[in-house]
Amino acid sequence: MSKGPIKLCNIKDYDKFIDKFDTFLLDCDGVLWRGDHVIPGVQKALSYMRKIGKKILFVTNASKSRTGCLEKFKKLNIEAYEDNNTQDPTFDLENIAPDPEIGAVICANDKNFNYQKLSKALCYLSRNPDCIFIATTLEANSQGNCDYPVPASGTIAVSILMALGRKPDIIIGKPNKPMMDCIIQNLQLFDAKRICMIGDRLDTDVQFGINNGFTTLLTLTGITTENDLLVNNISVQSKSRKFRKLFAALQSNLIKSIPNPSPTSIIPDYYISSFGEFSKLDSQ
Ligand SMILES: [Mg+2]
Repeated sequence: MSKGPIKLCNIKDYDKFIDKFDTFLLDCDGVLWRGDHVIPGVQKALSYMRKIGKKILFVTNASKSRTGCLEKFKKLNIEAYEDNNTQDPTFDLENIAPDPEIGAVICANDKNFNYQKLSKALCYLSRNPDCIFIATTLEANSQGNCDYPVPASGTIAVSILMALGRKPDIIIGKPNKPMMDCIIQNLQLFDAKRICMIGDRLDTDVQFGINNGFTTLLTLTGITTENDLLVNNISVQSKSRKFRKLFAALQSNLIKSIPNPSPTSIIPDYYISSFGEFSKLDSQ
């Protein structure tokens, strides 16, 4: 679809849209909740989708283990299952011991990131040529409980990148291939035309859907506003433009082959004010 995005405005639109797909891949923060607050209608929308036989997979770049993700779902009273629903290829970063045989440094979002941790990462990666540098994402910022963007794991990955002088060996979160490999394990045989990726970010969620041939639906409950979308001027995300300029400089001057995380003209097929709007289908 090239003309998008198409806005879903009413129950008739929602019904017709949902009927097109068997599987929905849902981002979490900005779609199901913002910070610690559930977006209205979300539980009912999920319950309706399951009731009519839709498969739901949660696809998050959150720096949490599957168990950690499940705790958040429980806390917010959103139905989810660890066994086959929550997709999260990240690992807990606790208990890293100073060990020369460590084979990988995994960089996720870490609110306690500091110079000591950076030094450890640099030590492992530079002393052991077989030690792999893994980043969960290169997201510059995300939306927490506040109205302004907060630094995301990309800022930490860039600290290591700067110190080390090379790009991550693997980036596992959306929109990259390792996340899709995780989903394939769950879906096995599937028809990409019957899958919809729902998310609030253009550079991760929507790009992930585009990369894999899925239809994409953007929700306006997270980091992207309707104005960002329609004027193709990603205002919230572009607040990190200085970061992106720095990144571009790194790209050209230091590390020529690093992927560019900047969302340029990533356009979803559809958008909707909130995923919770689908709950209205249950009261028809
Ligand atoms: Mg999100």
